[in-house]
Amino acid sequence: MKDKYRATGIEMSVATPASDEEIVVWRNAHLATVAGDRDGLGVVEGGAIVVRGDRIAYVGTDANLPALARGAVQVDLEGRWVTPALIDCHTHLVFGGDRAHEFEMRLAGASCEEIALAGGGIASSVNATNKFSEDELVLQDLPRLDALMEERLSTVEIKSGYGLNVEAELKMLRVARGLETLRPVRVVTTYLAAHAIPSSYRGRNGDYIKDVVIPGLERGRREGLIDAVDGFCENIAFSPAEISKVFDKATAIGLPVKLHAEQLSDLGGAKLAASYRALSADHLECLDEEGAQALAMAGTVAVLLPGAFYTLREKQLPPVQALRNAGTPIAIATDCNPGTSPRTSLLLTMNMAATLFGLTVDECVAGATREAARALGLLHETGTLEVGRSADFAIWNIGRPAELV
Ligand SMILES: [Zn+2]
Repeated sequence: MKDKYRATGIEMSVATPASDEEIVVWRNAHLATVAGDRDGLGVVEGGAIVVRGDRIAYVGTDANLPALARGAVQVDLEGRWVTPALIDCHTHLVFGGDRAHEFEMRLAGASCEEIALAGGGIASSVNATNKFSEDELVLQDLPRLDALMEERLSTVEIKSGYGLNVEAELKMLRVARGLETLRPVRVVTTYLAAHAIPSSYRGRNGDYIKDVVIPGLERGRREGLIDAVDGFCENIAFSPAEISKVFDKATAIGLPVKLHAEQLSDLGGAKLAASYRALSADHLECLDEEGAQALAMAGTVAVLLPGAFYTLREKQLPPVQALRNAGTPIAIATDCNPGTSPRTSLLLTMNMAATLFGLTVDECVAGATREAARALGLLHETGTLEVGRSADFAIWNIGRPAELV
């Protein structure tokens, strides 16, 4: 956390401490620790958390508080619930302009092709994003980050992918890094130049990867702008063979990978991601049972994005039961983007995951905390209430966790 701040409005805060060694005891709470690997939320009734500096030093019952809590600042939570702060592990929230007009066109009956012919789709976001300076993009993107953070997020992943040339892709990543300096949030950046093919490279995917994706990846790595590398594996984007070239380079320079896979068709993207021990495979509506098992074997998280499913009015549900049977970790994210998921609420997304995909309350809460942290490679740092983890927690004035969903 760049800007430490104290939990003042108990109703609305992610709590982080004011100084490095200060000890604060948060008492009289229902804790959903979300610790442990599978079922349940790790609930502790009559719970307390002791925070020293920015770390959790104790999680347990109020009755068993350790000696270090004596004489420390005490906060009575009056029976409120405490969960790990929420984590949005898949967003495209840095972009210029908006695509509300396309939404109107679609409501009036226009097809995707007609919208694309009128200059819409990803191309319109690419044009708008390329038009604005870094500072202008920060001003446009900050309200989206603020809206997400109102729901007590500690961590947000942000992808590039609306630049589609080296300079513009790196500009997006610098904007994402810049947002982190303006708010008390952890931003994880993902390089997604393999998102779409710019018009100047139409039909020449291989050239685009060689001329733009790989050089941008090398430069972004040198400039410290990239935490992970992503691609869009789909008939309308890149093939598994093309994605492999990007993943080979990422792996060679020591960056983890993840993949937009099996959203509209089954190209075997999840299996490809698993073969690179990817952090996550995302979307997955068209995933088959074998793919679910491959993800589980590799420890790759299945990130479900019900917001895009909803906006596109898709019919094919992700194979939630196959993921459960295989033991694949399941995370949930907003997919915040201007076209297919124009929304900035992780709580609403949790609701959609329950109502549209049939996830349980526990799966939704774990999916937006522990499993989202796992999908970002940050489980050692955040996502559960455990001793030694960062003190990223959220306090909720609710009677039971189902109210969050
Ligand atoms: Zn996405």
